[in-house]
Amino acid sequence: MPESFVHMGFASRVVFGAGTLNQVAGEVELLEVSRALVIATGSARDAADVVELGLGDRFAGRIDEVRQHVPVELADAARAKAAEVAADGIVALGGGSAIGLAKVIALTTGLPIVAVPTTYAGSEMTPVWGQTADGTKTTGTDLAVLPRTVVYDPVLSRGLPLGITAASVANALAHCVEATWTPKADPITEVTAVEGARALHKGLLAVIEDRRDLDARGNLLYGASLAGSALASAGTGLHHKLCHHLGGTYGLPHAETHAAVLPQVTHLNATAVPRARSRLEAAIHAEDLATGLYDLFTAAGVPTSLRALGLTEQQAKEAARQFGASSPVNVVPVDEEALTRLLLRAWAGERPAAAEGANAVPGGQAPSHHQGVVR
Ligand code: NAD
Repeated sequence: MPESFVHMGFASRVVFGAGTLNQVAGEVELLEVSRALVIATGSARDAADVVELGLGDRFAGRIDEVRQHVPVELADAARAKAAEVAADGIVALGGGSAIGLAKVIALTTGLPIVAVPTTYAGSEMTPVWGQTADGTKTTGTDLAVLPRTVVYDPVLSRGLPLGITAASVANALAHCVEATWTPKADPITEVTAVEGARALHKGLLAVIEDRRDLDARGNLLYGASLAGSALASAGTGLHHKLCHHLGGTYGLPHAETHAAVLPQVTHLNATAVPRARSRLEAAIHAEDLATGLYDLFTAAGVPTSLRALGLTEQQAKEAARQFGASSPVNVVPVDEEALTRLLLRAWAGERPAAAEGANAVPGGQAPSHHQGVVR
């Protein structure tokens, strides 16, 4: 019998398969949307043209400019555009940035979203929104922003360059791995996360060989969907919060930061979740989870050091100091010293197996909020 748990699931309709882009207009109709505002990232403009044509009279207007972390000026302009064209629904095509812009419109208007993801960030499966003003990113959770329908068409991500693909997969794997150790982690989420990691690993290895491999792209989108669901249920922990701090304070790129930080946080935390750890190791065919992730990212050509992303050693130390004060509850207790060690390893891009003592769990015990629970 599993331990006692509470699982939170989120309802959305998922339409998956090659060629499903042609079903977007039908999905809009099912939601009884009669004036759809289309938001598309630059690389999804051709796909947006197809959707626009398919929508016919249901097409109300279009936004072609999106930016990472949803700057407030862009959010305000997008809300104004939605009002101007009297939109009663949104179709968002692109990565986390396009879907993020749709979410901030939905936050204040309640408009339903049909999301058509072209990266593996997973935002389409979560009720989490984010917006940036004066260099500070604010995030929140609201059911109004959870896309009502998600259409996954692997054809759309075939053109995603390998570098962006691999970094985006690192982001998705981070959702899967962290979902096993947050305070809200539970056995249902764990199964989702492990299956997500399996599909992401398989897809990434195949995409390294052939960027346009449709089957591999399908595995990556399927894995990304499960990863997003796991993130939605388990919430974020030390890893994501550290990445958000680094991204918000030093302007580091979102997906790439995950690749540098995840192996180090995994090295620290994985011993406290032995069952999930061995399941995840089997899923990514690794003898050691942290090292396996590091080697996978390296093989895919994603930088595994914060130094390569432009952070200075001084900033890594400063980040540990600043973050230390507001450090979240973690499955392994961390203080400023442990954080500094961890961030310096991430800064230098050390292979975790070569690191010393970062994963020491006092007495081999899980900390209080997980005591007695084998996960
Ligand atoms: P992104 O949407 O900015 O896309 C990354 C790059 O890939 C862009 O340059 C884009 O033009 C390009 N691109 C996208 N699809 C492409 C395609 N099919 N072919 C070629 N190029 C393509 O970045 P992202 O990593 O998808 O998302 C990051 C953002 O999403 C961040 O702001 C992050 O905070 C947010 N996010 C939110 C959640 C959530 O639950 N709310 C989850 C994950 C990420």
